[in-house]
Amino acid sequence: MSADNKKTIAQCIKKARKIVIKIGSNTLANADGKINYGFMTNLAKQCAQLMEDGKQIVLVSSGAQVAGVSTIDRWAKRKDIHYRQALCSIGQVELMDKWRQAFGVFGIHIGQLLLTKEDFTDDHRTLNVRNTLFTLVDEGVVPIINENDSVSFDEIKIGDNDNLSALSAICWSADLLILFSDIDGVFDKNPKDFPEAKLVEFVSSIADLRKNISIGATNAFGTGGIETKLEAAEKVLEYGINMILANGSRENILESLADGSAKGTLFISK
Ligand code: GLU
Repeated sequence: MSADNKKTIAQCIKKARKIVIKIGSNTLANADGKINYGFMTNLAKQCAQLMEDGKQIVLVSSGAQVAGVSTIDRWAKRKDIHYRQALCSIGQVELMDKWRQAFGVFGIHIGQLLLTKEDFTDDHRTLNVRNTLFTLVDEGVVPIINENDSVSFDEIKIGDNDNLSALSAICWSADLLILFSDIDGVFDKNPKDFPEAKLVEFVSSIADLRKNISIGATNAFGTGGIETKLEAAEKVLEYGINMILANGSRENILESLADGSAKGTLFISK
């Protein structure tokens, strides 16, 4: 069964031409809260390889807040919105500086798109986002998307990059969305509490999955927790876009998924 999972994931990546890759804050940051530049260059190298193979890549990168805290070393405990927004504005620059360096090693330019919920609810704005993504990618540039945290407040926020990456994948008409989290995939129970927890390897119905796993505080792993990952899957599957959830902190994970040596949860559209 597990061999099939790996094989099918590998086939899915092989077939996909347009891939959106989302990287969560936990994957980007070291345990000390500092941005993990080694991870970023390793991911850039793997993206460069996929691009050599004819794939097109869009990244959705979290980490503005975490980078803000580790850069300015102040306000980390302040919960008021203005400080959180200020931290994101500082951190976003640091984050993109690191991505620029990481992709620069492989001669690849990056472009930044900071989006808000309205960019996906207003047709005119969505079309502009789509056109910019198409243009950047056609020119061999890797677009890197994040939510525009410095101007979004809770009521009008998308709020998590799992949903943002799903909306971006739909907007760009991607073939595949890969979510990199700090967990190998969806488990029937929280593997941090239950060592016997089983990886759910294939999901074709989110409704059935919801019935069979325990979601909630105890099972909220990763930045947005499992719920936002299921919401993302629900969104993209409706548009015929497959989704893979895998552990971004594993060495060369993109390569290993593509060559069939790593596992994850594959959400397959019918
Ligand atoms: N946009 C947030 C940040 O860059 C991350 C949201 C998320 O991790 O889902 O810090």
